[in-house]
Amino acid sequence: MTEEPSYVLLWRCGELAARAAQLAELLTSCCLCARACGVNRAGGEVGACRAPNLATVSHAGPHFGEEPGISGNNGAGNIFFAYCSMACVFCQNYQISQNFHPEERHFLSVGQLAAVMLDLQRAGCHNINLVSPTHFLPQIVAALDLAAASGLRLPIVYNTHGYESVPVLRLLEGIVDIYLPDLKYGDDRRAGELSGAPNYVRASQAAVKEMYRQVGAMVHLNEAGLISRGLIIRHLVLPGGLAGTSEVLEFIAAHLSPKVTLSLMAQYYPTHKAESHAPLNRPVTAQEYHQALEMASQAGLEIGWRQDLNSAASFCPDFSLTRPFA
Ligand code: SF4
Repeated sequence: MTEEPSYVLLWRCGELAARAAQLAELLTSCCLCARACGVNRAGGEVGACRAPNLATVSHAGPHFGEEPGISGNNGAGNIFFAYCSMACVFCQNYQISQNFHPEERHFLSVGQLAAVMLDLQRAGCHNINLVSPTHFLPQIVAALDLAAASGLRLPIVYNTHGYESVPVLRLLEGIVDIYLPDLKYGDDRRAGELSGAPNYVRASQAAVKEMYRQVGAMVHLNEAGLISRGLIIRHLVLPGGLAGTSEVLEFIAAHLSPKVTLSLMAQYYPTHKAESHAPLNRPVTAQEYHQALEMASQAGLEIGWRQDLNSAASFCPDFSLTRPFA
């Protein structure tokens, strides 16, 4: 028999609603992400992410571009949230994270967001994959409480840039089944220059330590071979070594565990503002990616997933289309 996700237990005892209320309190002086702007979003102010007080979704549907144990045959149940608390010059989702085209944004009530989750379950998706959820966490957890009451039983994937607040992550314990964070940089100066994210290294490392504390190093599979619980750290190799790959990998090995599942990504391609930030104006070379693989090996890390260098062509979404990944 399939095991129920742990948020179902929290829903039954009323704890899920209590966590949603605790998260909502944080909106009055917003500290949902590591930036901690302190603006009153409940009162209509907006912070650096520009996110309003209503969950804003750009696209939802089955998605086949995640790691195989998450996408499976039927697809991950992706919900792409609009806005972002980082501002990467090379963001592949820049249309929804940094540009503000009204047609690429759908403002949803908590009930409507719960309905989206239930639709993804009815469509046969293997999980609910929350993409860039941090700035809408109060609304998401409140929606999850409603959806659980209506029969949602899919595992929750928390798919994040890693620029997180540890106290906020503690409120997600028992709610998130699969943490899927990026560790984008090993150098704060680069994180500031290229992503406008002060103290990214300290914040993201503290965040993945908290995720590791919650779910451990082992990835759990269900009877269908799909991931049902665990931590998978993504690192996108950038041209010219700009991501600080060596530092990131050494951190994982030294401060988490060599057993943590690593997804070492080669899918970088120049987009958004990358053309004016050489060497980001070119793809990663085969030599650069192989060097990254070698660094992982030297750090003693087990690589869960690696990518073909030509995989970039498969990851060029256009969110102005009904099917952005067609
Ligand atoms: S979620 Fe947005 S408003 Fe809140 S702290 Fe982060 S960037 Fe600021």
